[in-house]
Amino acid sequence: MADAASEETLSNLLHEDREFPPDQAFTEQAVGKAELYDQAAADRETFWADQARARLAWSKDFTQTLDWSEAPFAKWFADGQLNAAYNCVDRHVEAGNGDRVALHFVGEPGDTQDITYADLLDRVKRAANVLLESGVSKGDRVAIYLPMIPEAVVAMLACARIGAPHSVVFGGFSSDALRTRIADAEAKLVITADGGYRRGKPSGLKSAVDEAVAQSPSVGKVLVVRRTEQDVEWDDQRDVWWHEALEAASPEHEAEPMDAEHPLFILYTSGTTGKPKGIFHTTAGYLMQAAYTNAVVHDVHPEKDVYWCAADIGWVTGHSYIVYGPLANGATQVMYEGTPDTPHQGRWWEIVQQHQVSILYCAPTAIRTFMKWGKEIPAKFDLSSLRVLGSVGEPINPEAWIWYREVIGGGKTPVVDTWWQTETGAIMISALPGVTSLKPGAAQLAVPGISVDVVDEQGRSVENGHGGYLVIDQPWPSMLRGIWGDPERFKETYWSRFPGIYFAGDGAKKDDQGNIWVLGRVDDVMNVSGHRLSTTEIESALVSHPKVAEAAVVGASDATTGQAVCAFVILRGDAVQEADEEGEGGDLVAELRNHVAKEIGAIAKPRQIMVVAELPKTRSGKIMRRLLRDVAENREVGDVTTLADSSVMDLIKEGMSKPS
Ligand code: ATP
Ligand code: MG
Repeated sequence: MADAASEETLSNLLHEDREFPPDQAFTEQAVGKAELYDQAAADRETFWADQARARLAWSKDFTQTLDWSEAPFAKWFADGQLNAAYNCVDRHVEAGNGDRVALHFVGEPGDTQDITYADLLDRVKRAANVLLESGVSKGDRVAIYLPMIPEAVVAMLACARIGAPHSVVFGGFSSDALRTRIADAEAKLVITADGGYRRGKPSGLKSAVDEAVAQSPSVGKVLVVRRTEQDVEWDDQRDVWWHEALEAASPEHEAEPMDAEHPLFILYTSGTTGKPKGIFHTTAGYLMQAAYTNAVVHDVHPEKDVYWCAADIGWVTGHSYIVYGPLANGATQVMYEGTPDTPHQGRWWEIVQQHQVSILYCAPTAIRTFMKWGKEIPAKFDLSSLRVLGSVGEPINPEAWIWYREVIGGGKTPVVDTWWQTETGAIMISALPGVTSLKPGAAQLAVPGISVDVVDEQGRSVENGHGGYLVIDQPWPSMLRGIWGDPERFKETYWSRFPGIYFAGDGAKKDDQGNIWVLGRVDDVMNVSGHRLSTTEIESALVSHPKVAEAAVVGASDATTGQAVCAFVILRGDAVQEADEEGEGGDLVAELRNHVAKEIGAIAKPRQIMVVAELPKTRSGKIMRRLLRDVAENREVGDVTTLADSSVMDLIKEGMSKPS
């Protein structure tokens, strides 16, 4: 039966009234930010041209801002020239800031390095010379497969310096994943390490490279960073120690200006929904927008802040907000090699205290893990230096947002939820700290210069209070320039659902004030008795129960309702103990089902709730709901190659087969 709600692209269920206006002191120092909206609205292209000139140093100025004549293939600032590495390093040293720390590196075993901009420049120049001597020239691709160590930053900047696009492959990926990415980009050289430290143990990387390179005819040389000093196989013809090569290389290297549209890097998406896509970005528009958003959204003031983005360099967040954005801005940052629970669950907070971190940017999965561990752990440390908190990667449940602000931010810091993708290159939707009145759980507003909308099936803008498809309806400087080697797939994937408009798969709603709430991927939307329900809202309702730390919801086929809601939940630390002691599993499930019904309505009440210890996640920390759907529907589980820990699925399947 078709009722009004069933015609909605997405039902709008969760109600959230809490709002946090900006703190006065913060607003006073955020001068000029609110005006950005008006400036951008007056003339978008002029706005971007101004940003490009103000934030970057150009070797040759540009005359045209945007060339959209071959849409969807954009060119920004096309006849301008600049060098990304020069912008991230040399110019800060030339401006007299060579002594400023660029990276406070913290190794997992406890070793540290404070690397100044002058040190970084020396390393990048030497590494650029090493690449050139190894036969890499402008345009050649370089694969980087490293742990979270400073050499990863140096390697990326050295590539940028000589115009060799890098393809960073997350160090936790298998040899097979590395091989396919090397082949796709036809990389000529690989930069790796003997290993890195994770969970207190040295992990191997070199052996995976050996295996991958044995089947990669394009690769001539492998540069190997010595990190763990474990024994590795060695091929004298092919392998070169990084430290020996850098020491021998000349410390002189002049950065060559590149065209604004020169390819900067290829990066594969997280693979949450399927096979990763080789997204490719070019130089100027990307660099400018990474720097711009890092300044206005994270509110980085390079002269006083210590900024920490706790992502891996293997993800776009690490590219834009560890390497290109903050370094272009001349910021001081923390880089941490290991896991949050090594050697203890307070490791992050110890680092914040020690380095007086003022801005922290991380993923909801980390926040929910800290919620699970309990607030007593961060309470042992002095976190008063923190003044801005950011979230990225998945929708942040309102309750996790509140916890982050209260427990980590001392109840006073703004928390910005930032929506963007590998494809967008930089943050697209976010509140601005000091300007926006914050709504927990909403990404809220397009950043100044960006135009996004929520549309219905026909591509018509929905009214406030309704849900639909999240689209970007104007080109933007850091937009992907394509899928590497596959222009057709690029058009088909992003530009065919709504002609002329970019759509990359997420659902969203506008609230009564026009704030945007991202509701998860449209592939994950459930259809229950004709109502299209978002995973995010039901998950957020579950997480708002005091015993739940994390939840994943999927739709499983159901004879009566078409699809039924199935939920998988992780309990908070103290709740697990209670449940064990009292054997109250059954009661708890009933309590949670009723809680969802009360929070958002009977239609969303899960048919089934399973308490689990872990959820299947990508290496970048996103929940892979398609695998849970396979379990809920009793199918063979699909492709698990981008899964962080494949044993998680076995545990869940075992649990499912027991009667609850
Ligand atoms: P694939 O496209 O291969 O399935 P992926 O989409 O997970 O992988 P990324 O580019 O790393 O790869 O992630 C972008 C996606 O992450 C967005 O499309 C969105 O679904 C989700 N996302 C990122 N930030 C947010 C946020 N603040 N709120 C809600 N969702 C977010
Ligand atoms: Mg995606």
